[in-house]
Order: sequence, then structure tokens, then C-alpha cells
Amino acid sequence: MAQTAEEFQARCEQAQVHTVEIAAPDTQGHLRGKRVPVGRFFGTTLKTGVNIADAMFVFDMQNDLPDNPYINMDSGYLDCTLVPDPSTGRLLTHRPGYALVFADALDHHGQPHPLAPRTLLAAQVARCEEAGLAPVVATELEFYLCTPDLEPIQSHIQYSSLTDGTDVEACLAEMRSALAGAGLEVESSNAEYGPGQFEINIGHADAMTCADNTVLFKSIVKQVASTYGLLATFMPKPWAEQSGSGQHIHTSMSADGANAFADSNGSPNDLMAKWVAGLLAHAEAMTLLGAPTLNGPKRIRPYTFAPTHIHWGLDNRSVLCRCICEANSAANRVEFRSAGADANPYLMIAAILAAGFDGVQRNLELGPMSEGDMYSNPGECVALPATLEDAVARFSGSALADMLGEMFAISYAGIAQHEIALAAENSSDPDDVNDWERERFAEHS
Ligand code: GLU
Ligand code: MG
Repeated sequence: MAQTAEEFQARCEQAQVHTVEIAAPDTQGHLRGKRVPVGRFFGTTLKTGVNIADAMFVFDMQNDLPDNPYINMDSGYLDCTLVPDPSTGRLLTHRPGYALVFADALDHHGQPHPLAPRTLLAAQVARCEEAGLAPVVATELEFYLCTPDLEPIQSHIQYSSLTDGTDVEACLAEMRSALAGAGLEVESSNAEYGPGQFEINIGHADAMTCADNTVLFKSIVKQVASTYGLLATFMPKPWAEQSGSGQHIHTSMSADGANAFADSNGSPNDLMAKWVAGLLAHAEAMTLLGAPTLNGPKRIRPYTFAPTHIHWGLDNRSVLCRCICEANSAANRVEFRSAGADANPYLMIAAILAAGFDGVQRNLELGPMSEGDMYSNPGECVALPATLEDAVARFSGSALADMLGEMFAISYAGIAQHEIALAAENSSDPDDVNDWERERFAEHS
């Protein structure tokens, strides 16, 4: 979507846009920013940006401010500047008159803010691109539709049924059309393996566009659901006894305009093998980014279609890294299956690129693939952290944390420590999900 400012302005004029939303993701993956009248946007704000408190990068899900060594009362919660990138501008057709543009956050020195998720992702994309590899990424998110008092809207499971659930199809159709209106390539939607759980698939894109699309996807799905009096939640495990909601992340590499994994015929080619070896090498540390609250690790349980161990395989839904390796196929890719639907896609994709690229740079060797039911037979494979405490322990001081940057790593682990302290007061059973947890995470995940 290489769109100039003039092209975006012409689209806004044609669609009679009156307000442009300047949007930046916070650390939880929630879009924050400001609404600006369209005339002022193209006259002034496009160049100057808008100011916003950098507290947004240390908020928890409820906008509390856990202790942070960098952003705190002593530092004064400084303003940062959100500078819009007009090439990312979208029309929000489900709210006629509104457009949205993504922005990068600059700190008070005018430098990319070191805690802004877009800054972290841009750095990892640049590392790959310097080596002639352009990451191509798709996310696949699941969500539940529930009533405002957090009951699922269905009491039964009818996976991919085209007969059941037509009562909610009007809502899903409106979601699909709102997503398409905002420039996302809608591939399909289906009922998932949970009561009131759905999935909508969106086409792949470059890494930054994919992350932008993913947070916009979540925002639009929630906005449309609310017009039906419903809540769409991306909480990873809203009910202990039902399926969790995952965020599967597919990556491939484009080199000279072609998929560099294309000749992975029946098994990963050399580049894909190193890429997957890197993902496996850093998978333990990555868990925190995929499961940043006490709820996420509860999704990592046997027989849930979420992976419990560190392994790779071909088309097998019980492995962590599912490799699609078809004869001469431009669709060959690696699916990383451990992140929950609440994971911040910028941070999770940044971690995947850092890990995969590390495998390529260090020529890591890929061990044997796993076959069959990897829940009953994980063999020697290392288990993924199944609690938030363990996820923090494996992230802090890891090579992955170094690659993402010390300031980010310390700040991020600090937010998780605050979640651990709250969980200790409010939720004692690691295998149950209580009302406190749903009330804390369902609405804004
Ligand atoms: N709901 C599963 C998860 O939490 C994934 C199911 C699927 O394979 O689509 O990851
Ligand atoms: Mg699914």
C-alpha cells in the first residue's frame, strides 16, 4: 500500500472524511492516539505530529502504571510525538467520515521511542532486509463473541458449520466488510472449535503492514461487535474448559521478489531449516511475548491445539513450528503456534524475526522433526513455560531479550512482574480462570 500523502488526501476527500485518527500501538497492542479534523490533519498535523504521554508504553491492560525504571513520576511521564505515516492511511468504512493512519512515536530527543512496539519491529525488519531478506508475515487470530456479562453467545461447538450460527452471521459479515473497507485482505471466516469462537483470516503482507493490520483487525472486530451489543474478546483463555484463542504467525522470506522457502519440497530448504532452528532456539524466551499475563500460559495445555513443547513438524497441529513445504510453492512458510490472541503482534513478530534471523546468521542446525501426537509423545522436547513466572524467568537475561534491547526487556519484564503480584492476590488456581481474571482481561485483550 505505497500511498503518497496526496493520494491519501484525495481518498479522504472523495469519501468525505471529516476526522483522521492518528494511531499507535501501546505495549499491550492497544491502539492509542488522537482524533484530528481532516483539514488540520493535512494542513498541519501530518508534518508536526501530535503529542501523547509516553506512559502509554508502560500501561498494563487497565491503564495502571506499574513501577518502571525509565518512565515514572521522576521522569515526569514525558510527551512523545506520534508522527503519522501517510502510506499507512486507511478509510474506516464502518464509521463513514473517519480515516486512520498509523504513526511512529518519537521521544523528546526526536529519536524513535525505544519502548514503542513499531520501533522494535522496524529494527528487526531492517536486520533481515540488510541481508537481502524481506519478511512476509500473516497472523491468524481467534476470538470469542460474548455477552457484556462475559458469557459466550453459544453453548455448543459446531466447528466451521455453515448451518449453525447463522444468527450471528450478520455481525460477522459486517466485520468482514469493515475489515475489507480498511484495506485488509479478507480471505475467509469460520466458526472455531469453541462455543461462540470465530476466526477471520487475513492475507499476508510485509511485517509492519501485517502488525498494523492485526491491531486494526482487533479494534474493528471489537467495534463492530459492540454495535450488536456483544463483546469480542481476544483473551487467550477465557474459560478453562474451552479452547483458547491463539494468534498463529506465519513467516516466509522474500528474496529478489520471490519466496526464498519455495523449494522446500517435503522438508525445509537450507534457509527455512536455519530459520526454524532459530525459532526453536529462542522459543522459551519468546513465550513471555506470546503470553504476557497470567492468562496466556493457561492456554498452553495438552490436547488444546496449542503447542506445549518446543518442536517442529510438517502439517501437524500439535507442534510449535508447523512447516508448510510443498513442491515449488510460493506459499511455503513456517507457522509459529504458541502466541495467544492477546499477544502484541509487533512485539511477537519482532521476536520471531530476531529469533529466525539469528538461526540464519549462526547457521543453526535443525534437529529431527516431530511426527504424530506430540501431546502424548513429546519425547526429549523441552516444555514451554506454563506459568507467567516461568515465562518471565526464561525471558529475562536471555539472548532474545538482548536482541530486542535492554530498556525494552527490563520494562517489559517489569510489567509482567506487576501482573504476577496481582495474580497472587486474586487468582490462586493455575488451571482455572476466575471472574476476576475475565473482568481484568476480557474487555481489552
Ligand atoms: N485454538 C487453538 C489455539 O489456542 C488453535 C486451533 C487451530 O489450530 O486453529 O491455539
Ligand atoms: Mg484456528
